[in-house]
Amino acid sequence: MLITYASHPDPLCPVLVGLFEDKSMTITEKETPYFEACRAFAKDRDLEEGMLIQVSESIVLMGMGKKPNTTEGWKKKGGKLCQKIWTRKPFNILMHAMDKQDLRALVYGAHLRAWRFDAYRTAARPMPPILCTEMTFVTHETLDHRPDAAIIESVHWARQLVNEPANHLTPPVFVQRLEELSALGITVEVLSTKELEKEGHGALLGVGQGSLHPPYLVALKWLGDAASKEAPLALVGKGVTFDSGGYSIKPASGMEDMKMDMTGAAVVGAVVKAMATRKEKVNVIGVVALVENMVSDRAQRPGDIVTSASGQTIEVLNTDAEGRLILADALHYAKTRFKPRMMVDIATLTGAIRVALGPVYAAVFSNQPEITEELIKAGKDVSELLWPMPLHPRYDESMNSDHADLKNIASPGFGGGSCTAAAFLHRFVGDTPWAHLDIANVDHLDRDTECCPKGGSAFGVQLLCRWILESLA
Ligand SMILES: [Zn+2]
Repeated sequence: MLITYASHPDPLCPVLVGLFEDKSMTITEKETPYFEACRAFAKDRDLEEGMLIQVSESIVLMGMGKKPNTTEGWKKKGGKLCQKIWTRKPFNILMHAMDKQDLRALVYGAHLRAWRFDAYRTAARPMPPILCTEMTFVTHETLDHRPDAAIIESVHWARQLVNEPANHLTPPVFVQRLEELSALGITVEVLSTKELEKEGHGALLGVGQGSLHPPYLVALKWLGDAASKEAPLALVGKGVTFDSGGYSIKPASGMEDMKMDMTGAAVVGAVVKAMATRKEKVNVIGVVALVENMVSDRAQRPGDIVTSASGQTIEVLNTDAEGRLILADALHYAKTRFKPRMMVDIATLTGAIRVALGPVYAAVFSNQPEITEELIKAGKDVSELLWPMPLHPRYDESMNSDHADLKNIASPGFGGGSCTAAAFLHRFVGDTPWAHLDIANVDHLDRDTECCPKGGSAFGVQLLCRWILESLA
């Protein structure tokens, strides 16, 4: 979807005017003749929210409902507007009476919603085709949508990857999608099986060994501030393109959603993409571990002991706790290869986080309270909410193994599955300032919302972009 601001309507397209519940409109009396025509028409009529009425051949009036009083409210308004008009023809959307910040939020929401997973549809039914491929918001304010568009398009890019089925998005195909980002000036480094074996990434290789498709570690480097002496920020993402659970197999019900177990990797790619598109003066490295967790005669068994790249040995007591295994190697790689000033990992890591927090807040764990605070604030700003969760020596102890340095799940009955998973990751981080985001409860929506259709939400792209722009840029 192309979104633009214009100072005058395109005479070839009809205009759309919004009418709020209190009878105020998105235009002022200066916008004659539209204002007169719409006011006369709306005087004795109530227009329900989302209803469109033809006022004349070239003017359409749309019910906008109640005026929001928050940025989030305006975004949702924009999302609803998009859903109403994008299966119609293009409009000039007249927004002269709008406050600048409210309008920016409305346009942001409209653009955020303007995405649908249509890649595998061959018929228009049951969804009507999208006819409005361009939205022009007409205002006399000076506004530039491009910086927001860079983030929103990255969200769409991530949603596209997350919704792709696992027979199409295998680890090698994911690598290709990431390699395409080099067109934006991002350096893409790929470690395939040979290099992974050489560098001893036994934890990642162990998870991948049951699949036909080999695992990869990919580093995406955006060095927008080449003159800076400061170490870069590293983002680390879990990219399990399909998680069957391995021999600790998952129940059949809902297993199809395990194609989305690569959300963390998609989010990391999207954030680096957004920074590069915006040409931000920041140095950000994205590291993603890509792997498919399958059952086969070669697959990892419960009880296997693997040696991670850090040298620590891990007893794999549950092959479905694979996210932490691949992150162990990815975090170690990010830490030793790039010596970052800070690392943030993002992962659909534990089912237990849904028990703890439901679908409302994702979890943040950190060895630095300031990072937790900054991330929570950034999340609030973009409505991707985080709740702080604990690291504690007792969670750490619970990961000690009888036969290796550590085991990949705590003893039965210990509980706190998200906290013990975070404690496991902590052992691979050392002294590097680090935060871990567990998003397994918010990575997909089971119904449409104002700004995102049902399916992968790409939770974290907006949050991490906001955080980087606030704290680094
Ligand atoms: Zn799993």
